[in-house]
Amino acid sequence: MTASNEQYDLVITGGRVMDPETKLDAIRNVGINGDKIAVVTKDDIKGKETIDAKGLVVAPGFLDMHHHNTGTPFGEKLAMRDGVTTPMELEVGVTRVKEVYADREGKCRLNYGYSSSTMAAREIILNPEYKSVFTGEFLFDLVADGKDAKTSMQWSKGHMTSEQDKEFETLLCNGIEEGALGVGHAVGYMTAGCSQQNSITAQKVAAKYGMSTFVHGRFSGQMPPTSGLLGFLEMMAPQEIYGGAIVFQHMHAQALADIKTALDMFSAARKKGIKVIPEIYPYNYGATILGADYLKPDNYGPNMGRDYDGIIRTADLKPYDKDTYAEGMKENPMESVMFYNSTDEDMYYGLAHPESVIGSDAFLYTVRATGETAFSWDTAPDAVNGHPRGSGTHALFLRLVREKKVDIPLMTAISKMTYMITDYLAENGVSQMNQKGRIQEGKDADITIFDPATVTDNSTMKDGGLQSTGIPYVICNGTLVVKDTECVDNVFPGKPVYGDAKK
Ligand SMILES: [Zn+2]
Repeated sequence: MTASNEQYDLVITGGRVMDPETKLDAIRNVGINGDKIAVVTKDDIKGKETIDAKGLVVAPGFLDMHHHNTGTPFGEKLAMRDGVTTPMELEVGVTRVKEVYADREGKCRLNYGYSSSTMAAREIILNPEYKSVFTGEFLFDLVADGKDAKTSMQWSKGHMTSEQDKEFETLLCNGIEEGALGVGHAVGYMTAGCSQQNSITAQKVAAKYGMSTFVHGRFSGQMPPTSGLLGFLEMMAPQEIYGGAIVFQHMHAQALADIKTALDMFSAARKKGIKVIPEIYPYNYGATILGADYLKPDNYGPNMGRDYDGIIRTADLKPYDKDTYAEGMKENPMESVMFYNSTDEDMYYGLAHPESVIGSDAFLYTVRATGETAFSWDTAPDAVNGHPRGSGTHALFLRLVREKKVDIPLMTAISKMTYMITDYLAENGVSQMNQKGRIQEGKDADITIFDPATVTDNSTMKDGGLQSTGIPYVICNGTLVVKDTECVDNVFPGKPVYGDAKK
């Protein structure tokens, strides 16, 4: 039997297939059987179900190494409409890795993956009262329900003895042996508490398993003595000595005016075989908690070139001033805020840079009417507050490329959201990634189909949840999760992504 009269489960006909590994950019038909791409062909093929992709780009499903909202139904609802098929929580990471993965089993619409968290490990060691109420999702414990979890600020401010650093190492190793994809090290939230010894240990653990750390650098600044560059060097020095790889996440927000120096350094490092990759999101403002170390006036002012009014309360979009900041820090340092960081010019430079990849940093949303964290599938995307990157990052990036604000070929843009990420992770202890980020026979059928002429973000600072458009079909492991620009309900094709050190 030839390919032409074989029946497939699902076929995509007449689309512009773009495969960033082989650089195939041509009209092809794609046949899917089960959860794999069975054929990519010029021949006519038939399927039980057919998608007419004429005029549309057929790309690998987007991967996101920086997604704090993965595994939650509402987070998935926004991610899938933005073309993401594999959102992963690698920056903050989780503890009790095995239980987190077990908890997600069969419930996910998209693929999911986690790192072993230094933040959570520090809290476990320094605050014996801490008991996760979200199965090990430390960020959820902090932001969504800190009271019942009895979280403290010890994870951020506490100092460890050398004995405790040993315990810290063991917890990180346990997470990796339970299947984590590396070590999540958001040291930028622990600037005063996390020792250099902790940072060395984090990189050493990654090196031991041939894996990566996922780093929010210690410093966000462009002035000595606490420049963003120094924060990068803090991790690259132990990397040079012990090995392992590093993703510097949203690095434009740390490097600020030093972005060119930073990217030059990463390029030179990569030429020497040092495994380091810069990640960027296409917004000149971030989202975090009011109590973030880098927002303190002595840093945010002189070192980041901003004032109090650059910090915006997410709940009502009100900018802070000196008094409301002081009051907020006293009443609720966990308050969700947005804050201006990089300039547009520096951000575009970073997005276009040949070494950079895209990561959204999708953060949790709150329901506007109740102030509760938006977890439920039924949450209306227009009824939430939160940073628009959780909904629009990938479509926005494609729009910026179309508008030539980021002047790179479409194939390169797709690669920054797919193959460059899978290639990096596969090289660094996640060989499952060899099956993703490609439109090729035998690979995982994670596919994003978008209209290059119309794809766009719709989310804004005011309406952070509005879903992207121009991405009419998204397929995860052979199953349509977005069809005719609508999310498909009650399908759960998402699968775990595990690291190679899983026992
Ligand atoms: Zn971060």
